[in-house]
Amino acid sequence: MTRFEGKVAIVTGSSSGIGRATALLFAQEGAKVTITGRNTERLEETRQHILKSGIPEDHVLSVVADLVKDEDQDKLINETIYTFGHFDILVNNAGTAFVDSHGRVGLDQDVSDYDKVMQINLRSVVTLTQKAKEHLIKTRGEIVNVSSVAGGQQAMPDMLYYAMSKSALDQFTRSTSIALIAHGVRVNSVSPGAVITGIDEAMGMPAGSFEKMAKFWESKKECLPNGRVGQPDDIANIIAFLADRKLSSYIIGQTIVADGGSSLVMGMQAHDMMEILKQ
Ligand code: NDP
Repeated sequence: MTRFEGKVAIVTGSSSGIGRATALLFAQEGAKVTITGRNTERLEETRQHILKSGIPEDHVLSVVADLVKDEDQDKLINETIYTFGHFDILVNNAGTAFVDSHGRVGLDQDVSDYDKVMQINLRSVVTLTQKAKEHLIKTRGEIVNVSSVAGGQQAMPDMLYYAMSKSALDQFTRSTSIALIAHGVRVNSVSPGAVITGIDEAMGMPAGSFEKMAKFWESKKECLPNGRVGQPDDIANIIAFLADRKLSSYIIGQTIVADGGSSLVMGMQAHDMMEILKQ
């Protein structure tokens, strides 16, 4: 018997990157999964990845949804319940950052970017959790949020709004974990460091930007002490661990940092990434 047999997982942001790897892993470990994102083509790619790994079609539900819209969140929950009858795991993974088309960073970046990043990285997690709560109480389920080391104690002057959204998400994880464990629902989170995904493109950076930065970081031990940038599976495995009550039941309201040691040194901050991209 596989470890998530009989379980149903909703993985937000599963049309790409960390969410895609997580949905695939859950499905391979026996769960039925709802995959979701705005991009229909990429969502179908995820579905095909899952089916090609030998998972039956009726174990995967695709829901196209923009999570900043309330009605799309309702659709995600309602279609999951209609199709699978219940759900046990919610992974709040969808998220992004926005770069300024005028090249402004940090506090100089327009406040509309602050609004946008808070909408998807924070507000959508709050409202989706509110909507999921009654269903997860019924199944004594699990929530895993995907935060970032950007939300930690160090300053992030160039990515201020993104970092603020993730710091607030960490507080949300801690506080909701206490409120919800009283009803048998666990809430935890993972804070990745740099992971090769589609996030650079989603942020509006030229294709290949992340690979370029990764190469630089991997060559500097003050950036990445372990010498390699993360892959989506590195994070998916932690999400699955935190969603697996047999393995992690005593962990409540914590965030597991997975960043190759970078947040212990934070040397990346000493380099101007925009200059590196120009080289
Ligand atoms: P990707 O850009 O590869 O994936 C992001 C996912 O979020 C996509 O599936 C995207 O779907 C979805 N998404 C974004 N906006 C919305 C929206 N409005 N409504 C619905 N879905 C949305 O990036 P990652 O896999 O890297 O990002 C996953 C999470 O990991 C994010 O929360 C990110 O902040 C976090 N993270 C990533 C790090 C990294 O280095 N990659 C480091 C630390 C944290 P679609 O475009 O189809 O809508």
